[in-house]
Amino acid sequence: MTQATNIHWHEGDLTRAERWERLGTRGGTVWFTGLSASGKSTIASALEQELVHRGRVAYRLDGDNIRHGLNRNLGFSAEDRAENIRRIGEVAKLFADAGAIAICSFISPYARDRDAVRKLHADGGLSFIEVFADTPIDVCERRDPKGLYKKARAGQLKGFTGIDDPYEAPRAAELVLKPGDEGVEACVGRVLRVLAGAGVIDRA
Ligand code: ADP
Repeated sequence: MTQATNIHWHEGDLTRAERWERLGTRGGTVWFTGLSASGKSTIASALEQELVHRGRVAYRLDGDNIRHGLNRNLGFSAEDRAENIRRIGEVAKLFADAGAIAICSFISPYARDRDAVRKLHADGGLSFIEVFADTPIDVCERRDPKGLYKKARAGQLKGFTGIDDPYEAPRAAELVLKPGDEGVEACVGRVLRVLAGAGVIDRA
């Protein structure tokens, strides 16, 4: 791939503050991380529904869906996983800048990749809320809604996070959920409280 040169950031005539003010919105990114079947997508989807019912522009970016389109040329090597997360991070940032709440649901097993997305948002003055779906692997494996753990255990799926690929748990997530013990509604309520605390929404 050749690197483009002579490209410059074009500011546009509208500031973010004016955009958000006129649209009556505030953007931000909620980033769910955790093992496969930990509950990320289920909670993210319920959160998205709740926010949209409140009249907020919230949009879910989800691992499998993004791999069908934007990132369909990427696999699961460490390098491809990093590029996958980098692209999602950039897209989430654009959504957040536009005033939407980007709800990202990705295993995102490597701390450095998640931290890079956090930095991207911090540098851009945007809220980034990392939510760790901390479900024990035995619970995930028992749930196994897509049969992936079974395949990984049988050696039919190589490099599966938690089995033969590492998962680096966040050390300083804004929120740690226990979807093995807490119900979906309780988890959504806790995310809403953090969003309210960050000023992205008015009330939990
Ligand atoms: P992930 O996106 O992390 O791979 P999914 O949300 O696709 O996980 O799958 C999680 C599975 O666990 C679903 O079948 C869901 O119904 C079930 N589940 C049970 N309890 C919970 C909970 N408290 N939170 C989220 N999911 C739960």
